[in-house]
Amino acid sequence: MARVAATDYESVPEVAVDVTPQRGTVVLKFGGTSVAGPERLRSVAKRLVAAHEDGNRVVAVLSAMGATTDELVALAHQVSAHPDPRELDMLISVGERISCALAAMAINDLGHRAVSLTGSQAGIVTDTKHGKAKIVDVRAKRIHESLDRDEIVLVAGFQGVSTSQDVTTLGRGGSDTTAVALAAALGAERCEIYTDVEGVFTADPRLVPGARKLHAVSYEEMLELAASGAKVLQLRCVEFARNHDVPLHVRSTFADSDGTWILEEDQRMLEKAMIAGVTHDVDEAVYEVASAEPATLFDALSAAGVNVDTVIQIGEGIVFSAPREDREAAESALSELGASWNEREGLGKVSIVGAGMKSHPGVAAKAFGTLAGIGVDSQFVSTSPIKIAFYVPRDDVERTVQALHKAFELAEQSAERDHG
Ligand code: ADP
Ligand code: ASP
Ligand code: MG
Repeated sequence: MARVAATDYESVPEVAVDVTPQRGTVVLKFGGTSVAGPERLRSVAKRLVAAHEDGNRVVAVLSAMGATTDELVALAHQVSAHPDPRELDMLISVGERISCALAAMAINDLGHRAVSLTGSQAGIVTDTKHGKAKIVDVRAKRIHESLDRDEIVLVAGFQGVSTSQDVTTLGRGGSDTTAVALAAALGAERCEIYTDVEGVFTADPRLVPGARKLHAVSYEEMLELAASGAKVLQLRCVEFARNHDVPLHVRSTFADSDGTWILEEDQRMLEKAMIAGVTHDVDEAVYEVASAEPATLFDALSAAGVNVDTVIQIGEGIVFSAPREDREAAESALSELGASWNEREGLGKVSIVGAGMKSHPGVAAKAFGTLAGIGVDSQFVSTSPIKIAFYVPRDDVERTVQALHKAFELAEQSAERDHG
């Protein structure tokens, strides 16, 4: 029997940004696959030079090359069972510096001037939460000075300096957030996110080969897509983009085609297709707490830095989900409370997201009918005005995504939301 609950977003703190809008400023971000190797770094350098030759003030944010961050995290765990969070950030922030320094060398070889900066040198100030720090301020003076000297500025993504002067990192996928925060602070015209797929698709194209590239997605939909597992953009970067009105363009590093624009909601998006996509997440842990005072429970989880996602209250009991990476913190907070709890193993989350849901009551019926049709039993359901999320057995995640994708006709051309 499915149980229904709602999920809220954490609010984004107001960020003091140095907005001196400069015409022609663009921020281009390149992900790990896009910079994986000398050849790819040289082609990124060429793209940046081309944007510069077009007359733009160019700021690039680079991720670490390929799987560098994973390798650095693994290395830390080979040395220490519980790496010190401050030292772990010192270590894993190095990957993006390597990419930036190499790209700067390649740009200089092309006859343009470039300068690479760490997050700290670029003026990205964060709170003190190692491993998932939040940007609280962007002091862009140094970047402006470099741009005024006509340099291409390369900023190491995923990192900043805390208010107590330590190097911090912004959570996995955090280079997206660096890019959007800089775009907001610099008053950039747009922020281009270059990645290894052609845009935001109606489902992860690696899971659903017939998935379609969307031409336009609203900020609200992208927030829900990112929060429910579409790893193509970090959730926080979308919150930033919405709060500071930064138009985002997600596109391929390896093709010149137009990608997906993330913008304010527009009637044309909804006329074309009311569902934007189907997402899945198998990196969440689900906990059942038999009896606990909710205020005390969530206070303890918040103090431990656990990012609670879905919350469902059933009588005395509470079910909540949180990222698997927060497991240690969640378990020690629960034990300290003396609460009686257990983890619901083997669940994954499949969500359908679309702004058109607000005005189409048939969506829930169709989704539940689809699950029933393939014999998948959802354990919990969580909703927002534009999302329905089902917690289903992990082994059923893939076929549930595929069945919902088919039921909502997302492989059809109309799903693309052509914005032309
Ligand atoms: P980068 O290294 O460029 O930041 P990521 O690996 O973080 O790239 O994000 C891109 C990946 O996101 C794609 O390779 C794709 O498998 C995955 N992905 C998941 N859901 C979606 C979706 N709905 N649309 C596009 N990509 C998706
Ligand atoms: N290199 C970091 C990661 O792998 C940050 C990023 O790529 O956005 O999570
Ligand atoms: Mg990413």
